[in-house]
Amino acid sequence: MSIIPISGHKRAQNPLNGWLVFTDLDGTLLDHHSYDFSPALPALQLLRKKRIPVIPVSSKTHAELNVHKAQLELDGPMVAENGAVIIYPNEEPQVAPPGYLMMRDFLVESRTNPEFDFIGFGDMSNEQVMEETGLNRESAQLARQRLASEPLLWHGDQESLRRFQRKAETAGMRLLQGGRFLHLLSDTDKGRAVIHIVKHLRSRGKLINRTIALGDSDNDRAMLLAADIPIIVRKHDGSHMTLPERPDTKVTEEPGPAGWNQALLDLIQQYEER
Ligand SMILES: [Mg+2]
Repeated sequence: MSIIPISGHKRAQNPLNGWLVFTDLDGTLLDHHSYDFSPALPALQLLRKKRIPVIPVSSKTHAELNVHKAQLELDGPMVAENGAVIIYPNEEPQVAPPGYLMMRDFLVESRTNPEFDFIGFGDMSNEQVMEETGLNRESAQLARQRLASEPLLWHGDQESLRRFQRKAETAGMRLLQGGRFLHLLSDTDKGRAVIHIVKHLRSRGKLINRTIALGDSDNDRAMLLAADIPIIVRKHDGSHMTLPERPDTKVTEEPGPAGWNQALLDLIQQYEER
């Protein structure tokens, strides 16, 4: 019997050992308009070859993420609903309290006060969600399978919205203004999800040396701050968010998946040349 030596020395020297890539989807890895990710394929393929997990961290639902997971050929953890849902492979999703049913109870109770005038996804039919979001029927159905957050259309005035915000905070939730929808969320964010995943994987004996996060919008801020290497992806109009707390943060030259691709190829090359 011969013993095959394991080259621990060589492994320790691999500069890409123990990397994790956390990424927003919309406008970051997926094109803002077309949801195309083909410009990012070279980096995605290199990351797969180097066995560096790519972990989507999105405002989308678990059901929506499953579609992207298959298209992107990912097999690791995922984060849905802006950090409130963490999915580890072959496990039930971990849902931050209070969870969707309690949120719906809170909303229905709130609406007994006539100044809180709004409608949520849970109040709408598939047709209404399609109309309000522009999604097709299949996508609207996936977007409605919610576990821990609710998109709302606010019909009241700003003063009543501020009162509603205080009511939500008192109940352990928060409100986040998106492009079109107001989102009722559990009291968590994408950054706390990143920290949870790093701790969880380490507790299972996985080596993690370096975390990278890519995002394009305000709801990515906590995730970018939680990472060792934050990368801001330029928006489709050429503008970009800023991260004053981390003045060294790289901003991609190109928007969306093309910028995502180049930033990661550059980063890998930079570390491999060291
Ligand atoms: Mg985005």
